[in-house]
Amino acid sequence: MQTLLDVLSQAQKNGVATGHFNVADLALLKAVFAAAQELKVPVLIGVSEGERDFIGVRQIAALVRSLREEFSFPIFLNADHTHSLTKAMEAAKSGFDSIVFDRSSMPFETNIRETKEAVVTLKSINPAILVEGEIGDIGTGSEVREQAQSLSSSLTTPAEAKQFVEATGIDILAPAVGNTHGMLKSMVQGGTKKRLDIARIAQIKTAVQIPLTLHGGSGTDDKDLRQAIAAGINIIHINTELRIAWRRGVEAGLRHLPDEVAPQKILPFAVDLVKQVAHERLRLFMGET
Ligand SMILES: [Zn+2]
Repeated sequence: MQTLLDVLSQAQKNGVATGHFNVADLALLKAVFAAAQELKVPVLIGVSEGERDFIGVRQIAALVRSLREEFSFPIFLNADHTHSLTKAMEAAKSGFDSIVFDRSSMPFETNIRETKEAVVTLKSINPAILVEGEIGDIGTGSEVREQAQSLSSSLTTPAEAKQFVEATGIDILAPAVGNTHGMLKSMVQGGTKKRLDIARIAQIKTAVQIPLTLHGGSGTDDKDLRQAIAAGINIIHINTELRIAWRRGVEAGLRHLPDEVAPQKILPFAVDLVKQVAHERLRLFMGET
């Protein structure tokens, strides 16, 4: 069975990216898994602290492990945006494949010190675990907003990326390259798209030479995503687009079955819509669209 590190190395070689999709319930997990299975591509399941609080840390680890084992399928689990070492250790002990240790809201030197400590501690629990660090401000929350979030800092520079990677020993870096979490209403309607600084991604890749993650991929221009992959992005996070599809699916299920009370009959509408989104995004990340 491939490890997540194998998958990322292969993705870099092949010029493709691995899709990272956040889940908060079984409908989302089923949908993402079905899309990846159909396309026969490795997939990364993400759970934020809030999503983990709802599903349960050990419970989501057991679900993902059961899919991996029953279907011999390269499905992996990431503890997305983990803000404390305690929560990161809990995920590592539960068998997560990777952890986004996010102290990017702290001053740079503090972020370096705490991330370095987290790398040592988490690898003492599981030497194979991958730790992702984050610098710069890409906003918070995979939500739909009226107005853009005001960000505290500008784009990540290649020099600070290099210093951060060398000082912390992280396996994966999440830079700020024009990406932000969440979507504007105008993006949901399709009128506007997020744009990325492709040249900056390429400069950061040259400087650090490790896998790069693009957070906040929802609502990003398709062409920018293709160019970002070519410039060195290896993992792309999609959350808000799935949440929108989930909600629309639940609403459609309730509308079509006004008297139905069985969740297993209502929720497949959500599974279908989420699966379509994951399928489209995975095809783009594979270079097929
Ligand atoms: Zn993120």
